Amino acid sequence: MKYQYRDEKTECMPRRDLEALQLERLRRTVDHALRAPFYRERLSAAGIRDGGGIKSLDDLKRIPFTSKKDLRDGFPWGFLSIPKEDVIRLHTSSGTTGIPTTIYFSRDDLARWTGYVARCIYGAGCNKSDVFQNMITYGLFTGGLGFHAGAEEVGMLVIPSGPGNTTRQFRLMRDFGTTVVHATPSFLLHVETKMKEEGVKRESLFLKRAFAGAEPYSEDTRRRIEELLRIDVYNSYGLSEMNGPGVAFECQAKNGLHIWEDGYIAEIINPDTLEPAAGGETGELVLTILCREASPLLRYRTRDLTGFYDEPCPCGRTHRRLRRITGRSDDMLIINGVNVFPSQIEEAIMAMKEVGNNYLIVVEKEGVLDKLTVKTEVGPDVFMDDSRPLNALRERIRKTIQASITVNPRVELHEHGSLPVSEGKAVRVRDTRPKDV
Ligand code: ADP
Ligand code: ZN
Repeated sequence: MKYQYRDEKTECMPRRDLEALQLERLRRTVDHALRAPFYRERLSAAGIRDGGGIKSLDDLKRIPFTSKKDLRDGFPWGFLSIPKEDVIRLHTSSGTTGIPTTIYFSRDDLARWTGYVARCIYGAGCNKSDVFQNMITYGLFTGGLGFHAGAEEVGMLVIPSGPGNTTRQFRLMRDFGTTVVHATPSFLLHVETKMKEEGVKRESLFLKRAFAGAEPYSEDTRRRIEELLRIDVYNSYGLSEMNGPGVAFECQAKNGLHIWEDGYIAEIINPDTLEPAAGGETGELVLTILCREASPLLRYRTRDLTGFYDEPCPCGRTHRRLRRITGRSDDMLIINGVNVFPSQIEEAIMAMKEVGNNYLIVVEKEGVLDKLTVKTEVGPDVFMDDSRPLNALRERIRKTIQASITVNPRVELHEHGSLPVSEGKAVRVRDTRPKDV
């Protein structure tokens, strides 16, 4: 395969040069950080008075972690390290797990961010002849404007459609010959359901590639989207605290997500001991951003769970790869004392052909016990009025889930396309248990 690079020199840079570049940028970032009220205090307490005090990448360990709580406590200006009049944009996180956090950008910050997103888009095989439909939320959420700017930088024709209204999405796809789309994986599955419903023929569309991110999804879900939509799906990872999209991305080898190490330092830690995770072990991703001056973040605990792949990538890029992000450490549900990650349930059911494109996990209190219900849609070919095969299917799903998580769930089957779909990130879990128990 012929791989394409937007900036081959940087993307394939020898590790030693890459690390030297990281050190130089880390020093500069620490200097910037010392101008922000939060870090002035935090870094001085750790004995770090200027970037020059960082002698090697190993010295990163001397810098304390920054948490989402720190960001919230520092709201609104505690992390700002340049004069307010030099800030030209702000974005916030989606607030999936609480109060949203805010990030500021200078003009140069925006240009650098755009460069990283463009690098990802181009690395997935797109070029200026592509037509790009950005079916993700615009506004405060970074996915919309971030991808928009990156796609323009590549020179693609950008259709800023945003999410929702599938009838209009299909019309835009046909009218302008859309070849590339960006959406959450759950919205892509919804698009496929709607395509069938609205009688849109796949042959009438020109789709080749999709970027899917902003929420966790399994390899089976990727495969399902690729087969149903006949489209090449690339996993895209980012978070607003680290600019947004453009942090880590799959190349055409699709075997993990290259994290752009000239812009970020990635560590994986054991979230309990805070020690580095050994080898390729799964742990919490900790990121330091090296490409932003307005609001630097050092050793930010993302709470996202992943691990490194160690082998070199056939594409020739030297930037390390992350495994598919399975979720956040705080996604974990404790059900009658058993730890369950929603991603385990997704993995178990999405491999089953008769299961449809959408599901919902409900956890409730019943007396003193927790009760888990998994509501899944059935595939379009499953008839809801024939109870014998339905009962057998329900039982098979129940057994598959139980084998994976050990908890015995109640399974509810719903008609194809009938469970609610959100425009932004999918809401997969409804936990109605009282919080203080
Ligand atoms: P919030 O943390 O409020 O959801 P963001 O909009 O910044 O705010 O979302 C970033 C988060 O979304 C990441 O920390 C991660 O948990 C999730 N995420 C983004 N892309 C992916 C992906 N490709 N795979 C899994 N999770 C992802
Ligand atoms: Zn690669």
